[in-house]
Order: sequence, then structure tokens, then C-alpha cells
Amino acid sequence: MAQAEIGLIGLGVMGSNLALNIAEKGNRIAVFNRTAARTKEFYEEAGDLKGQIVPCETIEEFVAAIRPPRPIIIMIQAGAAVDQQMELLRPYLEKNDIMIDAGNANFRDTMRRFDALKDSGLTFIGMGVSGGEEGARHGPSIMVGGTEDSWKRVEKVLTSIAAKYNDDPCVAWLGENGAGHFVKTIHNGIEYADMQMIAEIYGILRDGLKMSASEIAAVFGEWNKGRLESYLIEITEKVLAARDPISGNPMVDMILDKAGQKGTGKWSAIEAQNMGVPATGIEAAVAARSISSFKGEREAAETILGLPAVPALAVADRAAFIKDLESALLAGKIGAYAQGFAVMSAASKEYGWNLPMPTIAKIWRAGCIIRSQFLDAITGAFTKTPDAANLIVTPAFADMVKETDGALRRVVSAAALHGLPVPALASALGYFDSYRRGRGTANVIQAQRDFFGAHGFDRVDGADSHHGPWGSGLNG
Ligand code: NAP
Repeated sequence: MAQAEIGLIGLGVMGSNLALNIAEKGNRIAVFNRTAARTKEFYEEAGDLKGQIVPCETIEEFVAAIRPPRPIIIMIQAGAAVDQQMELLRPYLEKNDIMIDAGNANFRDTMRRFDALKDSGLTFIGMGVSGGEEGARHGPSIMVGGTEDSWKRVEKVLTSIAAKYNDDPCVAWLGENGAGHFVKTIHNGIEYADMQMIAEIYGILRDGLKMSASEIAAVFGEWNKGRLESYLIEITEKVLAARDPISGNPMVDMILDKAGQKGTGKWSAIEAQNMGVPATGIEAAVAARSISSFKGEREAAETILGLPAVPALAVADRAAFIKDLESALLAGKIGAYAQGFAVMSAASKEYGWNLPMPTIAKIWRAGCIIRSQFLDAITGAFTKTPDAANLIVTPAFADMVKETDGALRRVVSAAALHGLPVPALASALGYFDSYRRGRGTANVIQAQRDFFGAHGFDRVDGADSHHGPWGSGLNG
């Protein structure tokens, strides 16, 4: 039997779909799963693609089935499982074989694994894959980190399975070691912010305008024909329109309002904080998911505090207000993406990756969860202005901010006045208002720090005097 060109370990949701995608694109693939029964089941269900698949029950058999130098994708639960799997695999591997971790790894683990294999003759690639089950099966967005040489060895097969935007494959080598997994983490952080802002707008429509799920679905459906067109808006329309087969009610009304999270949003916020870059939209989204999970506490608080004693939202011109909501969502989205790209730009310097911003925007245009036409505009903005300090000061996005921030301001104000929580949208407004103001208020903070801690400050006139006339003995 001919040897496989590539191997894949982990036939869970993502791995099995990725394996079928790889096989379908004409690549012969060996597969292995810790639980052998799953490998059998997978092979039995592979239909016409069986001829391209070599199912293996032992690691030894699996490695022997792949032509050296072997590219081996590991698509299993992130964390310790990956280390365990790599340890089991390693004794069977030969010089130049490549282990590719395609799960949602913390980029710090990827850096560690990359370094550990550096002088071993083996190669490690950390690869972010986005698009969920459907993306894995028919074309995900793929973010690769590793040596350029190792990328060249897997470029052909990855290009064959990646999503295409027009004809451009949504896969790229982004830099050494942890670059791919870092970018995937920020992708997920932006996804958190995007989803949260959509949920906040849904909340205004549901609790403010008292619209039904199907009425709100129609609003999102309209928006998906305009500047907000994106996968997330599209699926929001679909989930709002769906009916629960058990009760007959709108499905969304039967789902408990407790959001899960697996860590990539939190990692994005932590890394942003580590580098001193504001990512307030992502932070607000992570915090909102955490608060959502305190369902019992929230219900108890509502009994104790009640809902805010404010008037119900009454808008004179409903159509104009819904138009404002659309613009506010676009403005909020600009803020979240600007922050995400600013975090990647800082990380690129910190870790010496030289991350290609236009390319990142390009490979997110299709295949991944945040795919949208909006990313095409970001690609254009970073291509035209590669050295821009921030997305929102590129000419195209500056115009968009100026056009939409009035609506964001009206929507956030209306929500605040009527007691509707919009933490992520409000964070975007705060970000714009802080970032665009040449003279801020940190002079007071510097004075306070000097007062209690003699930390010193710089003066506006540049004079060589760095402490205030607070007197001594006041430090606390
Ligand atoms: P899944 O369906 O839960 O499958 C988990 C896989 O990991 C199974 O094949 C399981 O093998 C294997 N596994 C678990 N612990 C193992 C260990 N100690 N040693 C060897 N194998 C082990 O997970 P998934 O959704 O496919 O996710 C896989 C990876 O892709 C994760 O890192 C996830 O974060 C990432 N990811 C998921 C999505 C998504 O939408 N689901 C999207 C992008 C990235 P057994 O059958 O033996 O249990």
C-alpha cells in the first residue's frame, strides 16, 4: 500500500473533519486516535474517501504508514494532552519529521515546545485553525507559526485544504515559534468581542424595543446585506429564527443565558495587559461571559436590587433608532478589531515575529468564525498604510469612525439611561474618546502618584523639575 503524505492524530470533531478535507483534496492521509474504536468508526464513515485514508491502531503502525520526512498534525484537546501525545510519538520519529499542533494551544506552550525540539532534528509547528467543524471539513482559515523552512514543507497540503476568498487561500506563515497560535488567540479574542456586541444589540432590541426573536432575526437579516455582512451576523439571524422542536417557542428563548468559555478570550486579555495594550472590548466580552455564568447570583441580585428605576426605552423614530444600532455595532466592531490588531502589533515587536498585518486580515476573510467583508477593508487599510499606529487612524477607518461614532454615542447613552447593559459597546466608545483626545486627564494621576509615592512627573514646559509642592512627610 502506498505510504501516506501526511498523518493526523485525534479524530474528534475538528480532527475527523480536517482529515476528510485533507483526503478529499487528493492527499493520502494516515490517521490515529487514542481510542481505537473511534478510528474504526471514522474509517467506516469515510465513504468514497476511504481509499485516501490509512487507519492505524498503534502509533508505531501510524508512523510507519507515513512517508518521511513526516508531517504529523496533532488535533487533540489543548494543554497537557499535547505534551503527552508528543512524548508518545517522539521515539518513533526520525530526523526532519514535523509535529504540527493544530489545537487551540496557549502560544506560551507552543514557544516552549518549539524550543524543546530546536536541536533535536525534529521540527515543531504551532498552527491555529479556525472555522469550527464546517471550516475544518470544507476550508478553514489557517495561521502557521514555525520556521520558514518547515512552512515550505507543508505549504502545498495546507493551501489545498484552506478556505479561499475569491481565489486567495486563507492560510499563511505568520512567523517563528508561537506566532500562529498567538494570532489564533487574538482571532478568538476579537470573536468574543464581536459576539458580545451582537448580544448587546440583541438585548436592546429584545428588552428595550420589546421585539420578538423572529422580528430581531429579520433585523439581523437586513444588516447582513449591508456593511455588517459577516458569518456571525448570518448565524445570529439563523439562531434567532429557529424554533425549539420541543416547546415550539423560539429556540433562543429556551436557551439558558450562561455563556461557556475555553480560555482563548481570557488569554487575549491577559497578553494584552502584559504588553500594556488596551483591549477593552475583549476584556468586556470575557467579563460579560463570566457574569453570565453567575446565573444564581444575578437572580438573587435582581431580587435585592431590582432592575434600575429608569423609564422604559421609548423611541420616537423606531426605524432611525434601528439604523443607529446598525452603525453602533459597526463602530464597536471597529474598536474591537483596532484593539486586536494593536495587540498583535505589540506582540510582533515583543517576540520578534514581524507579523504581516495585511496578510492576517486577508486570511481571516474566509473560513474562520469572524470572516466578513469588513476584513477586506482592514486588508486594504493595512496594505495602504502599513505603518499606521492604529487601525482607526488609517484614512478609510478614520472616515468610518467619524461617520458611526455619533450613533454609537446615542445607542450607549440610550442603553445607559434605560438600564440595559452594553459593556462592550461602551468600552469601544470610551476607547475612541480616550484615544482621540490629545490632552487627557493623566496629569492628575501623575500628581497623585507624586504626592503619595514621590514617583515624579514630566512637565508640559519640559522644565527640569519633576516633583510638586506637596511638602514632605505626606507619603502613604
Ligand atoms: P473533541 O471533539 O473533544 O476531541 C478531542 C480529541 O482529543 C479526541 O480525539 C480525543 O481522543 C483526543 N484526546 C484527548 N485527550 C487526549 C490525550 N491525553 N491523548 C491523546 N488524545 C487525546 O475536540 P475538538 O473540538 O476536535 O478540538 C480539538 C482541538 O481543536 C482543541 O484544541 C480545540 O480547542 C481546537 N479547536 C476546536 C474548534 C471547535 O470548533 N471545536 C475550533 C478550533 C480549534 P479520544 O477519542 O481518545 O478521547
